Amino acid sequence: MTAERTRALQERFGNALMPTYGVPPVAIARGEGARVWDVDGRPYLDLIGGIAVSALGHGHPALVKAVADQTAALAHTSNLFLHEREVELAERLIALLGDPGARVFLANSGTEANEAALKLARKAAGPARPVLVATENGFHGRSLGALAVTGKESMRAPFGPYGTEVRFVPHGDAGALRAAVDDTVAAVIVEPVQGEAGVVPAPDGYLAAVREICDAAGAAFVLDEIQSGIGRTGHWFAHQAQGVRPDVLTLAKGLGGGLPIGACVGFGRYATAFAKGDHGSTFGGNPVAAAAALAVLDTVENEDLLGSAARTGAALAEGMRATGHPLVAGVRGTGLWLALVLTAERAAEVQARAADHGFLINAVAPDALRLAPPLTLTPEQAASFTGALPAILDEVNP
Ligand SMILES: *Cc1c(COP(=O)(O)O)cnc(C)c1O
Repeated sequence: MTAERTRALQERFGNALMPTYGVPPVAIARGEGARVWDVDGRPYLDLIGGIAVSALGHGHPALVKAVADQTAALAHTSNLFLHEREVELAERLIALLGDPGARVFLANSGTEANEAALKLARKAAGPARPVLVATENGFHGRSLGALAVTGKESMRAPFGPYGTEVRFVPHGDAGALRAAVDDTVAAVIVEPVQGEAGVVPAPDGYLAAVREICDAAGAAFVLDEIQSGIGRTGHWFAHQAQGVRPDVLTLAKGLGGGLPIGACVGFGRYATAFAKGDHGSTFGGNPVAAAAALAVLDTVENEDLLGSAARTGAALAEGMRATGHPLVAGVRGTGLWLALVLTAERAAEVQARAADHGFLINAVAPDALRLAPPLTLTPEQAASFTGALPAILDEVNP
């Protein structure tokens, strides 16, 4: 099969878009469930799901109907007016989080959810506590505020200074965190598992230690569940498995199932730290995006996608481990959020060979491939990948 259309589109992409993403290797035309087809008609199993976004897969009837019906009825109001979908969505999130005192701010992306969280923490802390604490290799977004707390030096360094004191500590190191958090700190922001760093979990008990350290210092515990939330790990939210509640929680990615939406949830005094006029967004809580998010939450519940994520994820992880291939060092992660860790820095080649075999996976680090497929991935689809994996790896490491 030729790649003529892909090549033509890549050339136009290169001539029209800023080069922030390089030129992506695959041009996707359409999708159905966990399968997608490129513009030349080649099929792929989508094991990355738009980076943990396409929770229901592609073209799920519940999402299609919710978006179509809402667009026809009312696509936009701005926040000069309220509408029912945003209220329903906030109520649903509060119910899933099990705290009737929580309050929600709706945004359009993960970055914006984190901006809201940082502003919220600053507002609650007051001017005497301006410092933020974040983790090395962490990722929180690309705006100046979210980037200031992003621990990836290569992303952050070219855009400073940020006008904010940020202390970076190793992820998972409670001792280093304790030493960094004093009474000048407004907030600590962490991910339960570092997604962009390569699906790197913290040791058990880390979130409980963050909770305790923040409580002792009076700092806000901001938990970024933008990638880990909405069923990815087999729980609605990763922190629920640890029995720890943050002060501020941020969500996006899987929440909209492909429509852009983010949420910042405040608990306790952080529920009400913003006053009228403190924050806003023209599109935030948009009726169409909110309807999509409600369809995602309904479908996760109706189709037991938490159970599927846990079971299919375990089978996928086990299948990858069981290859026993010399290039496989191990598998990190839980649920349908995994990293295949290699014994050599050859993830980019594995990603390319996997695409040749019809599997989309993501070289998230030089030695790790990330899988974050639709939560609707079937066990048969998972097995088709683990079955093909030895041949893919052989092509890289003969
Ligand atoms: C993707 C991501 C973000 C940024 O979200 P955008 O929607 O790209 O702005 C922030 N934090 C984490 C943990 C993410 O995975």
